[in-house]
Amino acid sequence: MRTSSLSAAGNPEPLPESTTTLHDSLTELARACRVLELEGHGDMTLGHLSLRDPDGRGFWMKRNRIGLGEVLGPDDFVLVDWDGRQIAGSGGRHSEWPIHSEILRVRPDIQVVAHTHPFHACVFSAAMDPLQPFTLAADYFIEVPRHEDEVALITTKDEGAALARSLGGGFAVLMGNHGVTFCGLSVPHAACVGIFLEQACKAQLTGQAAGFNASMPTRPVREKRNSQIMTPIHWEHSWNYFCRKLKALGETADGAPVPIFR
Ligand SMILES: [Zn+2]
Repeated sequence: MRTSSLSAAGNPEPLPESTTTLHDSLTELARACRVLELEGHGDMTLGHLSLRDPDGRGFWMKRNRIGLGEVLGPDDFVLVDWDGRQIAGSGGRHSEWPIHSEILRVRPDIQVVAHTHPFHACVFSAAMDPLQPFTLAADYFIEVPRHEDEVALITTKDEGAALARSLGGGFAVLMGNHGVTFCGLSVPHAACVGIFLEQACKAQLTGQAAGFNASMPTRPVREKRNSQIMTPIHWEHSWNYFCRKLKALGETADGAPVPIFR
């Protein structure tokens, strides 16, 4: 994808409004990839994020063969249609495109889908126990469903549809003995869901390993905590914090992004 074109005279021509918006959205999505790498979601070149195409052609998906921390801008995404065909962008397409297509197909509210392998959530994905609120992090969610499958990679529409059913009306699902899929109404929302989920799983693994007799808030208390913290203003503040953290570590002096490796 190119962000501008040249007129016959060689001068940049202004792009249509929708293209400018898409460019901005993909720039933000690339930033989310690097933030997620920073927050423990990186696993070599595995993991991918997507953004619903504003013109309905499919979704813009991180290209393969690079890690989340190496996603630097809009050119690191390819446009994939609803049948998995790559119709724009250079670079390869991840084989797990049905994760994205099938969730976006049945959840019109969702704009961003992510599948990653954060270490603590990956370990916790093997647990048959529910996610519990050892800390506030789990109360960003009330329940996180767990999806079981017999494949290592979700590469068919049926497998993607099954994952979408497990996700239900929520924004995160644990994939048994594998990883997580999470999504959001916006790039900041999706990034926060993924980061808070990893924090919650880390807290539970740590708390259970400590072996103490743990106290847990009741369901009504959890719902109250959830209503206080899982709010758009909190996503915004958290997202801005993570972006400042990234900027402190991952930009050159003139503002160009640099790869993040964690
Ligand atoms: Zn995976």
